[in-house]
Amino acid sequence: MITIGRVHELRAICDDARAQGKRVGFVPTMGYFHAGHRSLMHEARAQADFVVVSLFVNPLQFAPTEDLAGYPRDLAGDAVVCEEAGVDVLFVPAVEEMYPRPICTTVHVDGLTEGLCGKSRPTHFDGVTTVVAKLFSMVGPCQAFFGRKDAQQVAVVRRMAQDLDLPVEVVGCPLVREADGLAMSSRNSYLDPDERRAATVLSRALHEAAAAITAGERAPDAVHRVLAGLIATEPKVELDYAEVVDAGDLTPVTIIAGEVLVAVAARVGKARLIDNMTVSVNGANVEVDLGVVARESEG
Ligand code: AMP
Repeated sequence: MITIGRVHELRAICDDARAQGKRVGFVPTMGYFHAGHRSLMHEARAQADFVVVSLFVNPLQFAPTEDLAGYPRDLAGDAVVCEEAGVDVLFVPAVEEMYPRPICTTVHVDGLTEGLCGKSRPTHFDGVTTVVAKLFSMVGPCQAFFGRKDAQQVAVVRRMAQDLDLPVEVVGCPLVREADGLAMSSRNSYLDPDERRAATVLSRALHEAAAAITAGERAPDAVHRVLAGLIATEPKVELDYAEVVDAGDLTPVTIIAGEVLVAVAARVGKARLIDNMTVSVNGANVEVDLGVVARESEG
């Protein structure tokens, strides 16, 4: 594996790989790797011939009130994870390399960015789509691997790639959980032991909502009450939203049918955490996708 920091190096190395007939797999990240990131690297390794990981804590996607300065970082540890996952190139640009001048051009995806996390983070997705568009431009034609932990992000980035005809196939990968159900996140490192235990209420609430839908509940309001009711039992967890939306366009549904996304966000101590599941409802047949639990060795 080589670690590089310059845009022209990344461009050249990806062009070279494709010139040799290799398919490029790309995993954009903000680092502080856990098993969720590793699963994306493994998927890229399985589907592509040349794997590029970017590690960049993107200032543009943090509001001034958010946790940019305190975002956890461990470049040395992250490099070891990439090495072990068979990554070919780790791209770690400096902020000045990504944004050498004040940025006048941003990418905005309408509609999909308005609900869910867009409500409390109104500038977040423009920061994400702008940096991902830049990274896609640097890497060039590739498959790009994103985790469904950030379900709204996958939908937004996929739509951006389609609308702008970017030569990138956006691949959504399973949400990876801790053994006790907590969705893995770099931000879990902010939690003290009490908060860490309380945070499991998010996945417990999703399980309970899944059970209600499986038992025949089709009213989004009722599912919201199940989620909010259980989450309210944990005083350390302050609910931001609990919603049932169409899995395609992310708009609220009036009845639970077809494929829906059940998504929650909450503040726990210093951390803002998100979690979700996808539910496919076809008459009485209900399929729930809550993701996968990381094997212990991957934690
Ligand atoms: P981040 O470093 O948090 O920006 O995440 C980089 C990529 O890893 C994104 O595509 C995330 O969706 C993905 N990711 C983060 N946490 C998880 C998780 N628990 N399961 C699956 N993918 C994840």
